Amino acid sequence: MSIPIIVLIFLKVTYSSPKDEEGISEAIKYLVGNNIPLAVKGGGHNPSGASSTEDGVVIDLSRYINHVNVDPELKTADVGGGALWEAVDETTIVHGLATVGGTMSGTSVGGLSIGGGQGVLTGKHGQVVGNILKMTVVLADGSIVKASANSHPNLFWGLRGGGGNFGVMSQFRYQLHPQRKTVYVYDGDLVFDENQFVDLAFTRGSDGEAR
Ligand SMILES: Cc1cc2nc3c(=O)[nH]c(=O)nc-3n(C[C@H](O)[C@H](O)[C@H](O)COP(=O)(O)OP(=O)(O)OC[C@H]3O[C@@H](n4cnc5c(N)ncnc54)[C@H](O)[C@@H]3O)c2cc1C
Repeated sequence: MSIPIIVLIFLKVTYSSPKDEEGISEAIKYLVGNNIPLAVKGGGHNPSGASSTEDGVVIDLSRYINHVNVDPELKTADVGGGALWEAVDETTIVHGLATVGGTMSGTSVGGLSIGGGQGVLTGKHGQVVGNILKMTVVLADGSIVKASANSHPNLFWGLRGGGGNFGVMSQFRYQLHPQRKTVYVYDGDLVFDENQFVDLAFTRGSDGEAR
């Protein structure tokens, strides 16, 4: 299998854009076997630079591994490890369904899902990791594993929070939940002064005192 590699000479960064988990596996085996540093990029939104490397190769999942396939009967979605939340939300809501995704649609499912993940539906359905049913993972030796509560359960447990340290997720299966199609989302800060706060947090008795 050929591994597409683009060399950006001036940035000293080399990109590999595999098309599926077999391509990821080939890239990992080549890079590990030749002692070449590698980084994995989902949406590239992590400000720490964790999805880049100098003098190494970035395995970029966003270019090709970005599918979203919904099963409306089972209320699940199979999502490529480099897909953006925008694609997930737009595809699932057509069926009146949604999962817990990030509040910013430009972040990728990869980095957000393996680190916990807070979203607008967290109050009702919990963290993103709690809504992952299955993951397809490429391990450091290039083997491809499907991890779930019933298959490789210890790996499944570890991936949900420490995923980037254990392998590359080529696909996530998320639990979907019924969601009305007209959604109004407010994302921002509400600021109250101390008098308003008392009225919000307490009730006032007939004497005007907060209780
Ligand atoms: C504008 C903005 C809004 C945000 N909003 C939210 C929010 O609402 N809720 C929330 O919880 N967080 C939020 N975050 C934080 C966000 O979850 C993290 O920055 C997350 O790492 C971004 O994921 P990414 O795939 O886009 O990042 P990347 O930089 O591509 O990846 C981050 C890390 O995850 C690894 N990684 C990515 N994909 C995979 C994969 N498929 N398999 C293995 N490893 C992978 C990378 O190697 C890297 O170490 C936000 C960040 C930004 C910049």
